[in-house]
Amino acid sequence: MGYRKNPLSLIELRCLAKQRLLGHGPDATTALALPEVQRLFEELEIHQIELELQNEYLNTARAQLEVALNQSGELYDFSPVSILSLDQTGIITKLNLAAANLLEGARARLLGNRFELYVADADVAVLNALLAQATASGDVQGGEIELARKGPLTTFVQVQIAQLPEELGWQLILLDITEHRQNEAHLRVSEERWQLALEAAGDGVWDWNVQTGDMLFSKRFEQLFGFEENEYGHHLENWLARLHPDDKQRVMGDSQAYLDGKSDRLFNEHREQCKNGSWKWVFCRGAIVSRTAEGKPLRMVGTHVDITNKKQTEEALLSSVRFQQTVFDSLSAQIAVLDRHGTVIQTNAAWWKYAIDNELAETPSFGGSNYLEILDCLTAQDQETVLAASAGIASVASGEVSDFQLPHPFYTPLDKRWFTMKVTPVHDVEERVVVSHEDVTRLKAAELASLTLANIDALTGALSRRNFLNLAEQELARAARYELPLMVLMLDLDHFKHINDHHGHAAGDVVLQAFVKTVAGVLRESDLIGRIGGEEFAVLLPSTTLEGGRSLAQRIIESVRTSPVEVNGALLSFTVSIGAGCWSSESSFANLLGLADVALYKAKNTGRNRLEVGLA
Ligand code: GH3
Ligand code: MG
Ligand code: MG
Repeated sequence: MGYRKNPLSLIELRCLAKQRLLGHGPDATTALALPEVQRLFEELEIHQIELELQNEYLNTARAQLEVALNQSGELYDFSPVSILSLDQTGIITKLNLAAANLLEGARARLLGNRFELYVADADVAVLNALLAQATASGDVQGGEIELARKGPLTTFVQVQIAQLPEELGWQLILLDITEHRQNEAHLRVSEERWQLALEAAGDGVWDWNVQTGDMLFSKRFEQLFGFEENEYGHHLENWLARLHPDDKQRVMGDSQAYLDGKSDRLFNEHREQCKNGSWKWVFCRGAIVSRTAEGKPLRMVGTHVDITNKKQTEEALLSSVRFQQTVFDSLSAQIAVLDRHGTVIQTNAAWWKYAIDNELAETPSFGGSNYLEILDCLTAQDQETVLAASAGIASVASGEVSDFQLPHPFYTPLDKRWFTMKVTPVHDVEERVVVSHEDVTRLKAAELASLTLANIDALTGALSRRNFLNLAEQELARAARYELPLMVLMLDLDHFKHINDHHGHAAGDVVLQAFVKTVAGVLRESDLIGRIGGEEFAVLLPSTTLEGGRSLAQRIIESVRTSPVEVNGALLSFTVSIGAGCWSSESSFANLLGLADVALYKAKNTGRNRLEVGLA
């Protein structure tokens, strides 16, 4: 744009003024007087100065305007946004450098060409429609068009079209959105790839519009349940209809909790029905992938993995565990499985019933407790048993021995029972062992009874002959070791045949029982009494001198004589004769007994109901 410049110098101004004055009418200054002329001259000079000042202001303003114009031109030219103007026929009348760049041409060459030449053929109609709409509506119109390109590359632009005033054409603003389009395409491709990868892995993919309930199911998803492509349906309802009735509530609850933000992940295992009516177990996983502007879940994507086989294996395992537990529980022995640290990890019904019956546990197991601590408690700290059990368990667990059994049953004072304890290995990497307790109280009672039978005389409760002789030998050895005195007495009831004959054998038995009771009443705790023959007894008096033994024997004679027994309503008195033997360190027990026997014989022969002492 050109501007008419103000005269810059006074001389120039003078020339211009003179020229203009010549154009004016006849000169009116000729008849003026001198003072008048002087005043006019002065005024002229002031006017001249005013003009000079005006000229200066104008020059400054012009300079500023030029700067502004240059800046605006630069802004237009170097704007990153492509701007171009078209006339009414669509010819480019003006464009900035960005626009020229976008249209891949020099600005001068582009000017005067129709813009549609630079638009891809397919989008020319779109462009013309937008131009027409901008004219018709008077508003800015926007759209996306593809530009024509010589090479293989494509360029997409977003176009804003506004009509210029007085219908002189349009102004267009173009924004290159090729990269954005490519990103979108990449995203689509990556999403497809992701789907393909999941499908290849055998996972069914679903895509749920949470707001509308629309659902997309991948091909693999449909295959999983025996459907052809696009046969499954496209709505949440189609899916819900195929959920197992027993799982439905749980699955829906899980989904709702996730959608409500109450759980941060969505996954569960449930059953879904196939097209043929059979059921499949699936592992379902899902995640919200987009939300509305208000933050509400908009879209959820997830996968279904077929876990039917895994579930069947689990089921089989579970039923085998149940089977094993049932077998366990059917056994009367108390059984516990221990880990390598001796911790109880499984028990059978007999085990926990025993624990509950004896108030050792409130819940049906000893689970988690240490077996040796339990054994310690059961046996009331029988250290010998606990240590033997501990060693046995360790040697079985380490494979040192194939099994282990406590050499003797252990006793539980709490309930007065006897148990055998056996350890067998499980043969697994965890070195587990099975411990079983068998209640042998009955056996033990029978054993004890037979033992008693052999050691104690059943009629009188005195020691049996064999037991007495054994114990007496031990006492004798002790006396020899510690050089202690010891006495032995042989006792024989007087005229016992007579009692049997006159009062009956049963009365004789009663007399024998009463006799032993009477003698035991005189004896000390450490003394022993044994039945040697029918109505012959022996008494061993440890740590007893001749004098001590003599006086004790006398007391026995006296006590027997004065303790009649009631037989058939009548009191029956009886007496005893005693032969005593006093031990000296040289003699054996047999010698000692012989000594007492001789003394007894003497007592019988010398009137009975009396004591004779035999000395070595
Ligand atoms: P003595 O004063 O000389 O000893 O005379 P006695 O009658 O006691 O004679 P002896 O010792 O020989 O008699 C033993 C009798 O004891 C013979 C036997 O019938 C009887 N007898 C042995 N064992 C039992 C028993 O368990 N019960 C009963 N009632 N009698 C028995
Ligand atoms: Mg006799
Ligand atoms: Mg007798």
